[in-house]
Amino acid sequence: AIKKRGKNAVRFFAADMDAAATERLRIETRLRAAILDDSLSLHYQPQVDALSGQLVGLEALARWTDADLGTVSPGEFIPVAEDTGLIVPLGAWVLDEACRQAAEWHLTVPIAVNVSPAQVSRADFAQTVQDTLQRHGLTPDRLKLELTERLTMRDPTLAAQHLASLHALGVPLSLDDFGAGQSAVASLMTLPLHEVKLDRSVLTGVTDDPDTWDGVSALLALARGVKLAVIVEGVETDAQLEALRTLGCRAVQGYRTGRPARPDEMVVHLRQGGTTP
Ligand code: C2E
Ligand code: MG
Ligand code: MG
Ligand code: MG
Repeated sequence: AIKKRGKNAVRFFAADMDAAATERLRIETRLRAAILDDSLSLHYQPQVDALSGQLVGLEALARWTDADLGTVSPGEFIPVAEDTGLIVPLGAWVLDEACRQAAEWHLTVPIAVNVSPAQVSRADFAQTVQDTLQRHGLTPDRLKLELTERLTMRDPTLAAQHLASLHALGVPLSLDDFGAGQSAVASLMTLPLHEVKLDRSVLTGVTDDPDTWDGVSALLALARGVKLAVIVEGVETDAQLEALRTLGCRAVQGYRTGRPARPDEMVVHLRQGGTTP
């Protein structure tokens, strides 16, 4: 089809690029305002012990509904925030709000917060984390930071230094999305991590047939081998949950054990003991 359209195809492509750039600029402008006027919010998703159903953590996930743009997913606005530097104030807001909420709820399990490479790369990041914990009267073990491997790609030495400061503070570090894209086993052995979070893609094809469990079973063995806690994300079905239970995986997160929920919904769940059947 491209060949037939010839020159026109190039023009269509250029027009698409233009539309994409315009859309990104619109997102950037509105997002800047949203950070200033406090119109972002957080949803919380339970992290659950697969055997007992007990709550073992809560992940804070950024949400944004704009008057003009409507609801924009983090998959759309986080990359824009990262490209424009807005991730620094946005990330600081997320960290503060998650800690405030954890303190208000008197959570006894960690609140997990996603952090982007641009945040962790800043010289003052560990200080920001320490100040935020202090402001809300939380001990470092009440927080957990979810990092991605994109962090180590930028500047491995600097990343290692900053992770060491966070580790020294006593904040647990989790490597998010492991098994998606290029995941380096070396990261698991060299970074001061507490936990590895297996990406939901590792559950692709897992059914109630044990023959489909080999891949995830090997990844669980890898995590155990390097003495890291492991959590599997994106658990959607009974069969996946059952497989993980059988393989001895304790921590899971996904639609099967609880969708991301607004604070007012989450508080009801917490009052009921926070246990998932
Ligand atoms: P993530 O940290 O890997 O978060 C998990 C994503 O998977 C969330 O998408 C969650 O809603 C979704 N999810 C949870 N359970 C299931 C399931 O069973 N099935 C499926 N299909 N999906 C499930 P969400 O909220 O759209 O966030 C997408 C990504 O955006 C996050 O991936 C994270 O990388 C990023 N993100 C979200 N909030 C923040 C933030 O405050 N700061 C930063 N830096 N990144 C954020
Ligand atoms: Mg995450
Ligand atoms: Mg993830
Ligand atoms: Mg993800």
